[in-house]
Amino acid sequence: MNERDIVRVAKLIEERDAALSPLPDRKACDRCGRQAGLDAVLADATWAAITAGTEWTWLCLWCIDTLCDEQGIVCSATLHFAGNAVAASSRSAADEEQIARLWDQVYRLRQELDEKACTFNLRWKADMRAIKMWRAATGRTLEWPDHADLVVWLLQQIRRRDRMIRNMFQLIRTVRRIW
Ligand SMILES: [Zn+2]
Repeated sequence: MNERDIVRVAKLIEERDAALSPLPDRKACDRCGRQAGLDAVLADATWAAITAGTEWTWLCLWCIDTLCDEQGIVCSATLHFAGNAVAASSRSAADEEQIARLWDQVYRLRQELDEKACTFNLRWKADMRAIKMWRAATGRTLEWPDHADLVVWLLQQIRRRDRMIRNMFQLIRTVRRIW
């Protein structure tokens, strides 16, 4: 990075931080004291319902959400952040159900993942045992055998041992006949 790039990056970081920091003229929430720099425009009826019997003239979005939730109010609000309007609405019962279903799915997938990890570990340990045998037999102690080659090699070992056992039986039979 040259000097000009460094200056440009520093300026970008400064701009980003300025956009993320709370606004200097933000007001504090009358209920909780939070100063987030977020404004919301609510329907008059909603505002009247959640501030009834209070002196509140300014509420943060978190308090609005909590108060709406407490009174079972599902509403839309126009949010303003740093002078820009953004749309949002509080969660409906259908949203809550959808979220609960998604959590169920996450939980199930997590379980499946754990089972698969367990199977993978068993398989991995078996592979490692086979590779250790292959390395000891071939003297290629730093090599990772190709999986298909390893399977072929293992089958050859089984066949060799089979032949050895058969030969041994034959030897025993021959010895018996002689004696
Ligand atoms: Zn608040």
